[in-house]
Amino acid sequence: TAAALLAASLAACGQEAKGGSRYKPDNGKGGTIGLAMPTKSSERWIADGRNMASQFKKAGYDTDLQYGDDKVENQVAQIENMITKGHRLLVVAAINGSALTDVLKRAKEAGIPVISYDRLILGTKNVNYYASFDNERVGRLQGQYVVDKLKLGKPGKPGEGADEPRSIELFAGDPDDNNTKYFWNGAMEVLKPYLDSGQLVVRSKQTRLTQATTLKWDGGTAQKRMDDLISKSYGDKRVDAVLSPYDGISIGIISALKSAGYGSKSQPLPVITGQDAELASVKSIIRGEQTQTVFKDTRKLAAQTVKMGDAVLRGKKVQVNNTTDYHNGEKTVPSFLLKPVSVDKSNTRLLVDEGYFTAGQLK
Ligand code: BGC
Repeated sequence: TAAALLAASLAACGQEAKGGSRYKPDNGKGGTIGLAMPTKSSERWIADGRNMASQFKKAGYDTDLQYGDDKVENQVAQIENMITKGHRLLVVAAINGSALTDVLKRAKEAGIPVISYDRLILGTKNVNYYASFDNERVGRLQGQYVVDKLKLGKPGKPGEGADEPRSIELFAGDPDDNNTKYFWNGAMEVLKPYLDSGQLVVRSKQTRLTQATTLKWDGGTAQKRMDDLISKSYGDKRVDAVLSPYDGISIGIISALKSAGYGSKSQPLPVITGQDAELASVKSIIRGEQTQTVFKDTRKLAAQTVKMGDAVLRGKKVQVNNTTDYHNGEKTVPSFLLKPVSVDKSNTRLLVDEGYFTAGQLK
């Protein structure tokens, strides 16, 4: 069982940790990198793991790639194990950003540096660097897409034909993922002025982040909530837009909308955002169901992380581009943030040009 595994690896780790530091910064190449990824239930994390494994290999390292199946205790046990095995560096995409304080203390005691991957690890000094995308920008791209697509014009000044308020429902990510609030804040920075002016209305009145979160980023959970919102708050009214933070959630939302009769000529689907440019969702965009997604090239994030990790292990200067925005409660973690890109029907071609998908895959 997971509990037995955890106990075993805790015990093993206690012994290991006493052995002291195995990390020699000027030791050159080689050794194993522990890659702790959250889940295989979403394509992006499979790609993240695969990309890092192959790129670390090219840089001369072995890798130990583990997926936590979205269960915090699995991920903790996996990291314990990596420490026990004496891996030289940990790269962690946290399932719960606040649940790794103890295990990372052990990593520190064993002299193993830690890179927080995509999601910031909170509540510990023992995280050396953070590699991610500009998460607030992801949210701003989603929010701005809704505003542009609904032709809302400037806040407070309704645009042509937009005198009637347009309706929107708001979805957010997993409450334990630190990225969730950045996506939300970015989107709300754009949407709030329109909610304040009355150009946009949330008929369900569920406008707080705590009301909008989606446990484990689960599409089925989002589908149920959307079913509920439609049946309780819409009646003969139409949903004009849905802010969705992630493609898997958008899929659930679209299913709920279709069950309620959306998706025909007379009742088209609302504007629906997303994130990750996952294959099924890009196809959905091409079919005209989901409207937008945010493309974050996981190959580039992997490349950046490998560069960071290699520099850390060689005792070289680590390249960062943000030293102010990501405070984890204990320290501001030096970060490298990549730029996310908004994708809709008009520019899915970009994904082929960039080699993210083949033209055949998008047919
Ligand atoms: C990532 C997103 C992803 C989400 C769900 C977030 O932490 O930044 O790219 O959509 O997790 O997997």
